[in-house]
Amino acid sequence: MKIKFLGAVEEVGRSAILVKTEEEGFLLDSGVALDHSIKFPVYVSPDEFNTLIISHCHLDHVGSAPLFFIGGIKKALMTKMTKELSRILLLDMLKVSKTYLPFETLEINRFIQYSTEIEKDKQYKINDNTFLEMKDAGHVLGASQILLKFKDKVMLYTGDMNVNKTRTVPPANTNYNENIDVLITESTYATTEHPPRDQVEKKFVEESRKIIEDGGTVLVPAFGVGRAQEIITVLHANNFPYKVVLDGMAKRITEIFMNNPKELYDYKQFVNAVEKTYILQSDQERRYVTREPGIIVTPAGMLKGGPAVRYSEEIAKGRKNAIFLVSYQVEGTPGSTLLKKRVIAMGGKLVKVNAEVKQFDFSSHNGKNDYINLIKETNPKYVFFVHGSRENIEFLFNEINNNMKDTKAIMPKINENYEV
Ligand SMILES: [Zn+2]
Ligand SMILES: [Zn+2]
Repeated sequence: MKIKFLGAVEEVGRSAILVKTEEEGFLLDSGVALDHSIKFPVYVSPDEFNTLIISHCHLDHVGSAPLFFIGGIKKALMTKMTKELSRILLLDMLKVSKTYLPFETLEINRFIQYSTEIEKDKQYKINDNTFLEMKDAGHVLGASQILLKFKDKVMLYTGDMNVNKTRTVPPANTNYNENIDVLITESTYATTEHPPRDQVEKKFVEESRKIIEDGGTVLVPAFGVGRAQEIITVLHANNFPYKVVLDGMAKRITEIFMNNPKELYDYKQFVNAVEKTYILQSDQERRYVTREPGIIVTPAGMLKGGPAVRYSEEIAKGRKNAIFLVSYQVEGTPGSTLLKKRVIAMGGKLVKVNAEVKQFDFSSHNGKNDYINLIKETNPKYVFFVHGSRENIEFLFNEINNNMKDTKAIMPKINENYEV
């Protein structure tokens, strides 16, 4: 079997892995990197593979998939939720992108229309010797680990993965019932141990309460898919007594969550949370909600667009207010600058923020020990590290090299062939 990494090598972004056997060719994910401009994975000809498999809806995993639907149609496999959410995120990318994209709505629609829905924990036959199984990855609704069973080898690609419990998504399912020969794991937080979730929740709810009881308003910039829904559920589950407002793309995504009871970790709790949340009805209302005590949950999570930008300009002025970041802040984004320098851009100038600024770790990825445990438990012959910084990948590489003599750890290089 040959494996080639076309992106997500020593970086978080543009995941794409080409896997080839004598009989089949697969492309696992086809994302983009969204730093300052849009970056694509290394080019791969559509003739090199038969099947595209998408792990989840985030653009760093699906953002370049429509490329394979320009001249023709490729076989694409993913879960129902990934299909539904990818469509929205891809169309949104097209709408907000300031740079040229090599595909249009037509290709996005074709990609979605011609992709096959895969049910989790069921064998899907690719050919007589090759089977696919998708398993809960615990990362975002619909997110799956990809298990490929070949004649003589089993391969597991984690996609983005979280084994820890959250309020909205069931945790990753690690009952593989197979010996894994080749493991490809993400490494986003390989050197970070996340604080226990209940402590993060408690601190977040308490600090939000304090701000509101002192007469302030809290802005929570949150990813529209997943994090915003998680935050409103956290607030509800902790009996938060004040007004919670939901705005932006998160509203539409919340509707999709509501329509898919089986996908959620605790549907009843989620529905109750939504019923207690004020879903903003019109843009005009934005002016009022920033002046009222309460909490506003809205994308974008890194303040790179969406209603959160406008809200932040208003909220930043008041000393009694707060901006609580609940997502990972990529270096160089407005959210990261706000966290480090307490400034935001307004009318082309950087302005000092009077409101309190804090970050809370509501991660939807594994932590340090989760990665090591996964590798120990699966005890693969080969493990490849992707989707993480150089420092993170080196850490896991050394950890496995020093402690697991039967496993060959590999820090892949971009566009190089690995034979296993
Ligand atoms: Zn993701
Ligand atoms: Zn990712």
